[in-house]
Amino acid sequence: MATGDDANKTKTTTDDKPPADETFESIGVCAELAEACAKLGWKRPSAIQTASIPEALKQRDVIGLAQTGSGKTGAFALPILQSLLDSPQAFHSLILSPTRELAIQIAEQIEALGEGVGVRTATLVGGVDMTLQAIKLGKRPHVIVGTPGRVVDHLENTKGFSLRALKVLVLDEADRLLNLDFEEEIDKILRVIPSERRTQLFSATMTNKVAKLQRACLRDPVKVEVSAKYSTVDSLKQHYLFIPAKHKDCYATYLFNELSASTLIVFSRTCDQTRKLALIARNLGFGAVPIHGQMSQPKRIAALQKFKSGERNILIATDVASRGLDIPSVDVVINYDVPQNSKDYVHRVGRTARAGRSGLAVTMVTQYDVELYQKIERLINKKLEKFPLEEEAVMLLYDRVNEAQRIAIQQMREQDERKGKGAKRGFKDDDDADKLLSMMGRKEYGGGEKLRVTKQSKLNGGRGGGGRGGGRR
Ligand code: AMP
Repeated sequence: MATGDDANKTKTTTDDKPPADETFESIGVCAELAEACAKLGWKRPSAIQTASIPEALKQRDVIGLAQTGSGKTGAFALPILQSLLDSPQAFHSLILSPTRELAIQIAEQIEALGEGVGVRTATLVGGVDMTLQAIKLGKRPHVIVGTPGRVVDHLENTKGFSLRALKVLVLDEADRLLNLDFEEEIDKILRVIPSERRTQLFSATMTNKVAKLQRACLRDPVKVEVSAKYSTVDSLKQHYLFIPAKHKDCYATYLFNELSASTLIVFSRTCDQTRKLALIARNLGFGAVPIHGQMSQPKRIAALQKFKSGERNILIATDVASRGLDIPSVDVVINYDVPQNSKDYVHRVGRTARAGRSGLAVTMVTQYDVELYQKIERLINKKLEKFPLEEEAVMLLYDRVNEAQRIAIQQMREQDERKGKGAKRGFKDDDDADKLLSMMGRKEYGGGEKLRVTKQSKLNGGRGGGGRGGGRR
């Protein structure tokens, strides 16, 4: 137990590089788990791990100010696994996450780290059958990872499920948990777990709400902070592209084409825009897959899987995917829409240039976004460079993009009609698009193949009737 002397002790690391001589063993991780880290290719502990794991192993509560990509999952998972090795017990730990995708990824990482020690996990998220989850709970898992709403559902409705013996509570991405209004559910959970427990709270930002939550559920915590606030890493090349709004899709297509050998995440503001852009890209032969909040949970997971497995190289996403998702090898982030909230820019571009790799981010700025864009530059304290391109080469794509847009609108209309009048716009999925593409006799080429464009296609095709003939030589 902590003494009053070191109450509110803060460990701050201003850059995110850990001391070079630390190893997992030297920060207190046991040999078995250090070996599991090595198997995952983790050579040395990250800064957040170096700063927080020794504290957690001393049974201290920890607040970690760190973002996705910092290795924060390992920072709470390793002490949990180590404590389980010392005294195994069912329902030992509960990890609350704001999104289903993040919960699933946390569980995957715990299972990967704990494979050798036989850890059992249960993932309790919405959009998945409660009965199947209840069966999993019946097997008395050690670690539960879930979104607050579904955890409360099970606490209230699943016989035999109780958190009365809980040893560790983790609140991951606490700022987001609170922004998503999970306060009531968190309160309910706090009322049924023991006060004698260890708590870890992670958050990208320290908001007033997070501070309040901290006071409510942490005891004498050590605060650990890595990396300067809202900084972006140096290995990330950041560019902007100033474009006329009416030609946005042409510019996006140009980027898809130029970067066709890379993995791309493209951020768009709305679900419908995400859907439409994915259809346009696919009508043009790119391997694109959408992910947004109006897709059902299995479809979201399937979309992410297609991207992770390399079956598709372009993920078109709303901000649902901008935080928390563990997509290890993204080469490029394209902001098709400038994020409304500047902090989201940092989260979005944080999908690339991870773990020391280089990355590229391109933000498309139209005449309507200048103010929002300037706010971002002020926040990150950087002037971005213009992305180099030839405007003329972009406009060569005009006819084909125009045709692809027309078809995409028709496809969306057909999807909506097929789903019935009452269907909410946007509640559509990738499989529908697959079926439609094949019904229309369109083949997808997948990523990697470049569109062929020549000057002729612009000069001969006119504006609007060029169709897929733009590749004629
Ligand atoms: P997180 O911040 O927990 O979402 O982790 C981001 C990524 O970093 C994941 O792909 C982890 O597998 C990876 N990672 C976590 N810790 C380490 C480490 N010590 N060394 C290398 N990669 C790590």
